[in-house]
Order: sequence, then structure tokens, then C-alpha cells
Amino acid sequence: MATIFSRIVAGEIPCYKVAEDDKFFAFLDINPMVKGHTLVIPKQEVDYIFDLSDNDLAAMQVFAKKVALAIGKAFPCKKVGQAVLGLEVPHAHIHLIPMQSEADMLFSNPKLKLSPDEFTEIASKISAAM
Ligand code: AMP
Repeated sequence: MATIFSRIVAGEIPCYKVAEDDKFFAFLDINPMVKGHTLVIPKQEVDYIFDLSDNDLAAMQVFAKKVALAIGKAFPCKKVGQAVLGLEVPHAHIHLIPMQSEADMLFSNPKLKLSPDEFTEIASKISAAM
């Protein structure tokens, strides 16, 4: 069965899309730690990020860099942090999180509750900065 993230890429489940190329896809995390929290995934369905081939892992990181630079423009911050957990969804993903402090990277923090309009505005701001 396809992962929830493959179903997002296929358009079967809605998302707030940020960017896409032939191999990778970026969309907002639905339970964001901060505004601008974005996930980058390979379209290829692989659970563990370190099971990607060297070439695909390197290309995913380069794609994530483009998204991270756009997040930093759209949401001024000290730096955009990157994390990989993958304990919940078995489809490799990089979390990109604009940080004002180390505390913004604590996954145990309560998550933001945003309206659909707010998610849409955040995704368009990042897309526009790409
Ligand atoms: P983890 O696998 O531990 O890195 O966590 C999975 C992340 O995916 C969590 O931050 C979730 O909020 C996020 N997530 C799960 N389902 C969706 C979805 N349908 N759209 C956007 N983000 C999601």
C-alpha cells in the first residue's frame, strides 16, 4: 500500500505544496513547530533515508537546500534547521524548520494550530521565494 506521502505526491490527499521537481516534493508539515516548517521527500517510496542511493540522497539534499534558502527568505530566522526522524511516516523526509533558537527544533514542543488560509499563505510565500 502506498504511503501517505506517496498519496500526497499523487494528488490523492491534499497538501500545502511548496515545490516539486521530477524526483522530489516539498510541502508544509501539517503539525508545524513554527511557521514555515516544511517537509522534503523523494517521490520514490523509500522508508529509511539512508537506504536511498548516494546519488539520490545527494540530489535530495540539493533540492532541500533550495527550499531551505526560500524558507529563510520568506521567514527571516537565524538559520533554517534540518532534521530527519522518520519515526511516524515510513517515507523518507527531511524537516526544514526556520529557527530563532535551538528550542525551535524540539520535536516535543506543542505544535502550532494554523487555519487553512494561514497554511496557504505560508506555502505561497515560500514558493514565491524559490
Ligand atoms: P516523523 O516521521 O517522525 O518525521 O514525523 C512525520 C511528520 O509528518 C510529522 O511532523 C507530521 O506532522 C507530518 N505529517 C504527517 N502526515 C502529514 C500530512 N498528511 N501532511 C503534512 N504533514 C504530515
